[in-house]
Amino acid sequence: MTQIIYVALITITVVSFLLGKWLDYLNDKAKSPEMPPEAEGIYDSERYQKWLAYDKANGRVGAISSSISIVASLVMLGFGLFGALDIWLRQYIEHDILLALGFFGVLGFGSSIISLPFSIYSTFVIEEKFGFNKTTVKTFIVDMIKGLLLSAVIGLPLGALVIWFYYELGELFWISAWVLMTFFSLFMTMFAASWIMPLFNKFTPLEEGELRTAIEVYCDKVGFKLTNLFVMDGSKRSGKSNAFFSGLGPKKKIVLYDTLIEQMTTEEIVAVLAHEIGHYKKQHTRQSLILSIVQTGVMLYLLGFFLRMEEFSLALGSGAGSFHVGVIAFGIIFSPISTLIGIGMSMLSRKNEFEADAYARDTYDGAALASGLKKLTAENLSNLMPHPYVVFVSYSHPPVLQRLERL
Ligand SMILES: [Zn+2]
Repeated sequence: MTQIIYVALITITVVSFLLGKWLDYLNDKAKSPEMPPEAEGIYDSERYQKWLAYDKANGRVGAISSSISIVASLVMLGFGLFGALDIWLRQYIEHDILLALGFFGVLGFGSSIISLPFSIYSTFVIEEKFGFNKTTVKTFIVDMIKGLLLSAVIGLPLGALVIWFYYELGELFWISAWVLMTFFSLFMTMFAASWIMPLFNKFTPLEEGELRTAIEVYCDKVGFKLTNLFVMDGSKRSGKSNAFFSGLGPKKKIVLYDTLIEQMTTEEIVAVLAHEIGHYKKQHTRQSLILSIVQTGVMLYLLGFFLRMEEFSLALGSGAGSFHVGVIAFGIIFSPISTLIGIGMSMLSRKNEFEADAYARDTYDGAALASGLKKLTAENLSNLMPHPYVVFVSYSHPPVLQRLERL
């Protein structure tokens, strides 16, 4: 049994890597070296060439980083190093919860070390070269430290509680962990925008003026109570622009990047905002929250089931059944299911994007949204014609040409 699981874990890892490679290849082939007629009005030929170069540079880095990570995974799996790490740590740590936290800590640290050079390269070489990067070395380092502290402050107690549930509550493990995670994700949805995001960016209420008035007039018209409308200093890190909606109930918040305000006209910004309000009006925020809670429940139920079988830890080289090694094995076994769930969620999300676009068109102005989307695409050097399979598997937003067509 252990042998079969061992082979299955390696097979799943290799197949999902190859699947990713195949999708990259399809996307590459879908690119035309000359500007296609469909791109007219979004890119000019110079900008299109720039996109090609940008896409190529990103593709190359992606290929190197995914190759390194598959090699690292196969070495860890093939030589039973997850189990070896467990056995080694047990010499120093006796406490079950500390042991599991230490185990995930070492793995997390290792994977950050591997990904760090890529993140440095893509920020300071690629994004820099294409004129997007505004991040200073200082901001980059401070971000990293804040990120680490934040994951310690939130992740350690949360992780410790889940592990404690596992050791103390037996059969009730999955359901108690589910309740905890549900509360946690509700809490984060409500407060992340007010407590966590301000640690990284500055949020200022949109000042009085033409734009604010236009937004207020629109919100009045559709009956949206506008309490929190903020401008975020996205330009601190990147020239790319965006807008988003976050939070629930009275905590809901609309955020516009300062870069968006710089690049777009008032009508275009109101149209983008109307799209965001469309997500709210059509209950998309609530819907995706509920779905993710259900998904977490299913996952925890299966995790509880798998953890009872010690063969999974043994397949990874552990000496005996081990919670944390079992979690790693489960993560790999579950990954095809999670890919399938991800495909379903992306399909739903693309449908929601069309709905929000339609809402903006019906309540405000389709033409303004279309021209806003075109600008956003050209400024951000987005892919106009990704391969349909790639869209199917991983795109949360429909390709912009499809959105324009529907508008
Ligand atoms: Zn949207």
